[in-house]
Amino acid sequence: MSQDTLFLKIVRKEIPADLVYQDDLVTAFRDINPQAPTHILVVPNHVIPTLADVTENDEQVLGRMLRVASQLAQKDGLAEDGYRVMINCRDHGGQEVYHLHLHLLGGRPLGPMLARRG
Ligand code: 5GP
Repeated sequence: MSQDTLFLKIVRKEIPADLVYQDDLVTAFRDINPQAPTHILVVPNHVIPTLADVTENDEQVLGRMLRVASQLAQKDGLAEDGYRVMINCRDHGGQEVYHLHLHLLGGRPLGPMLARRG
């Protein structure tokens, strides 16, 4: 099964993006609509639609995504003050692009994790 997602096209360099890292398993690029001074997306090089779809076979790529996020945070000077790593899953999680990705956000205090209701 191979859907052609927007992020797969970025992985394959078929559409432009501000790429900051790529290896055999994952690709990282800056978000087109940044919510913080650093806003990087880290994606698997193959399509896993959502976090709800991962299997035992994905453990290596999931580990790589987190390690690369940690390395990029260090590189962007975020490690000392801290940062946030986030994955939105499906409808209630607010996921817009159905190609698994983690958000690395930092460079300013990010406030509470969720907007308060009411
Ligand atoms: P989600 O809501 O699915 O967790 O996050 C999708 C993210 O992808 C959003 O933060 C959005 O700004 C980003 N995004 C959507 N289209 C593009 C694009 O074409 N290029 C880049 N670099 N980011 C994108």
